[in-house]
Amino acid sequence: MSVQVVATKMAEVELKDVPSKDLSPISPLASKSDEKDGTKTEPCAAVSSATSPTAEPTVRADSSPNPTKMPQASAMKRPDQQQNGGEAFVNQDGTVAEAPRMKKQIQFADQKQEFNKRPSKIGRRSLSRSISQSSTDSYSSAASYTDSSDDETSPRDKQQKNSKGSADFCIKNIKQADFGRREIEIAEQEMPALMALRKRAQGEKPLAGAKIVGCTHITAQTAVLMETLSALGAQCRWAACNIYSTQNEVAAALAEGGFSVFAWKGESEDDFWWCIDRCVNLEGWQPNMILDDGGDLTHWIYKKYPNMFKKIKGIVEESVTGVHRLYQLSKAGKLCVPAMNVNDSVTKQKFDNLYCCRESILDGLKRTTDVMFGGKQVVVCGYGEVGKGCSAALKAMGSIVYVTEIDPICALQACMDGFRLVKLSEVIRQVDIVITCTGNKNVVVRDYLDRMKNGCIVCNMGHSNTEIDVASLRTPELTWERVRSQVDHVIWPDGKRIVLLAEGRLLNLSCSTVPTFVLSITATTQALALIELYNAPEGRYKQDVYLLPKKMDEYVASLHLPTFDAHLTELTDEQAKYLGLNKNGPFKPNYYRY
Ligand code: NAD
Repeated sequence: MSVQVVATKMAEVELKDVPSKDLSPISPLASKSDEKDGTKTEPCAAVSSATSPTAEPTVRADSSPNPTKMPQASAMKRPDQQQNGGEAFVNQDGTVAEAPRMKKQIQFADQKQEFNKRPSKIGRRSLSRSISQSSTDSYSSAASYTDSSDDETSPRDKQQKNSKGSADFCIKNIKQADFGRREIEIAEQEMPALMALRKRAQGEKPLAGAKIVGCTHITAQTAVLMETLSALGAQCRWAACNIYSTQNEVAAALAEGGFSVFAWKGESEDDFWWCIDRCVNLEGWQPNMILDDGGDLTHWIYKKYPNMFKKIKGIVEESVTGVHRLYQLSKAGKLCVPAMNVNDSVTKQKFDNLYCCRESILDGLKRTTDVMFGGKQVVVCGYGEVGKGCSAALKAMGSIVYVTEIDPICALQACMDGFRLVKLSEVIRQVDIVITCTGNKNVVVRDYLDRMKNGCIVCNMGHSNTEIDVASLRTPELTWERVRSQVDHVIWPDGKRIVLLAEGRLLNLSCSTVPTFVLSITATTQALALIELYNAPEGRYKQDVYLLPKKMDEYVASLHLPTFDAHLTELTDEQAKYLGLNKNGPFKPNYYRY
């Protein structure tokens, strides 16, 4: 296959002037830790010449990474799930633990209904919501400006063509393409790494021959990713992973640009599966790569078209839910292709949890309440990544921030960062804002809600809607008043009211946007994972779930550095030898805590 020739060639070219000793695994620390904790890291040289450290990105002293050199290293395997069926996570010390945020069993959507038999319009709307959680959580960086109510006709009932005469798409309104194009151009400004990868298209096309079927949020940022994949040689067919998050105008711009997109804002459940099916079920076209967010697309192919997996080279999955599903398949021995878990890559985690929350907590609070932060007393529950981001942002705005923690290490960190560590009960009567970020349940229970002062704002940035006991507020003596979208006043008999945001669901995902730069990190990681899996020689990856190699994580970060005119220091030969590192990375062992 031509693309593999290209990949091999690249590796050969880059291997040429490398002393052979450089082909062995570099960090003795990393290997030792892997042995100790049971994590299997496939040694680069043992797998293929293409995995040589020399095929790593060249991050020069001026920190402008060369987009034509990409890392090609075999990925790490993440240890499988524990016996109890909970999702396994590799702790920072390398041990494996169940992730508390994924305790509930994942249920695949009930697919017994004949999805091709189309119910009436009313019937479609009244379908029970068995769709997966990821299909309803909105994680769009920008709400669609095109209200679905402006035209009641279902896109499935419309005949639309783009200006080139193609009708291989199903979207709300192709006439919105120009508007969508402007949205995509704005997103491109904040997605420097993908734009850098595109430069590569001028020469080699690492995704030539790739037929990618995708199921992600369809937003301007996804459009930048899709157009990058296309520039790198791939053909793409796409559906939405969420029934609400599609930016209709962006879908229109993609369809106008020749992409087969099947998505619109406000799909019914029946529409949702129909769109996925239209992506994969096509005469004369079979996907050979899957890019999924939530696992619904993967599940659909497993259920309906298992034979397709004969041609599929790999799955790239972004979400916690989807990764959990992949581990379930792997555990059951049913995963028949390699899969890449991009959710747990270091850069993505840092950006999603720390940096994104640091910005979006202010955005979410401001949009919903117009609150002034200066001088306000705020308590942040949990001082992990999300709590650290929220606390730092509010402190910088002049708020007086208290922190609660159960873990003495995080508690000490909070103290060292200048926050007062308290028990919630000690400050609950005086604070103006309560923010939960623990990933735990029942952190703010009814007793605390009863004791809050009038006007206290209560919101959650952590796991789903379990941290605040919202159910306990649905009692006859309390009155609920919806004052704005996502803002409820809950009123006590004596007139006291608290301001509950997003009914205790994740504030930023419900009420604000996610910065494009954060999504750029994720999208770049996805693109690199696709390139890696697609070009990997036979046998490099088995039918298992892999983490992205650390070198690729480093590469994703390096591609974002030029935005800041950041100047990265290069190790001298002497320093590299002293630290036992390759000058091109990876620079840290797997257990390193960033
Ligand atoms: P983390 O594990 O790093 O931090 C959570 C902290 O809460 C830990 O330090 C833990 O000791 C502490 N904690 C647990 N129970 C507590 C309690 N009862 N009282 C006080 N502290 C308690 O996790 P994280 O990365 O900070 O993520 C936290 C939650 O936020 C997770 O559920 C995660 O899924 C979610 N999350 C949200 C977003 C978002 O955009 N809103 C982004 C990423 C993650």
